Amino acid sequence: MGIIEFDEKTGKPILIDPRIFRVQFRSSLGKLEKYYRALEEGRILGTLCRECGYKQYPPRSYCPRCRSKDIEFYELPSVGRLLTFTEVNVKPQTHSQYPDYIVGVVEVDGVKVVGHVKARFEDLKPDQTVEISVEKREGDEFPRIVFKPIK
Ligand SMILES: [Zn+2]
Repeated sequence: MGIIEFDEKTGKPILIDPRIFRVQFRSSLGKLEKYYRALEEGRILGTLCRECGYKQYPPRSYCPRCRSKDIEFYELPSVGRLLTFTEVNVKPQTHSQYPDYIVGVVEVDGVKVVGHVKARFEDLKPDQTVEISVEKREGDEFPRIVFKPIK
């Protein structure tokens, strides 16, 4: 087995790194514990600076605009606007068992959120209104953000 193989779908040459890595991220949460606890409950939180009013997602423990650490969490609305999207055909090995999927960027309450789009690619268009939710995919314990077009 060499490091160059051919993609099953496109037939084009692809580089294969034969090393297999297993990575489990461990990081301290600090103030962001609240964000991940809410995510596990299916809610998405942004942060609001009490000094200057700047809203941010993903949340940070300080304001990037005025450097204040006086921030509060707030729940993002469950409806947003699809700004852009793309279909992922060549997947990382961690996702290779899944069918092709769509990743999108949604504007909600002045911030941008990245997530998976549950729709047929050909049915999507920019500026489409989407419902935002959190779910766990079968066999994957990490909660993921999902967008579904609202007809
Ligand atoms: Zn601020």
